[in-house]
Amino acid sequence: MHEMSLAESIIQIAEDTARSNGGARVSVVLLEVGRLAGVELDALRFCFDAASRSSLADGATLVIEQPDGSAWCMPCSVSVPLANLGDPCPRCGSYQLQVTGGTELRVREVEIH
Ligand SMILES: [Zn+2]
Repeated sequence: MHEMSLAESIIQIAEDTARSNGGARVSVVLLEVGRLAGVELDALRFCFDAASRSSLADGATLVIEQPDGSAWCMPCSVSVPLANLGDPCPRCGSYQLQVTGGTELRVREVEIH
């Protein structure tokens, strides 16, 4: 994951929202980054601050929500928590898992003022 290009696309989305609302400035960007998405949050915050300068999102607060990882275990037929991609099922040790949550990576909300 390249945090700088990620930060730039987030700012792009925020600016588009601000422009379609009459050119207001962005105050808060609410981001959803799952724990399995492989994003370095410190790096992302740093890149966001750097890339937002002189944009409509300059000075905006970046709020990051981190949904936990989860997967469907086929042998157990239940949903289990998953700390890392590639981990086995914590109940039965199987690797027959389908990841169902934690890989989210999206802008949930842009607040403008
Ligand atoms: Zn299992």
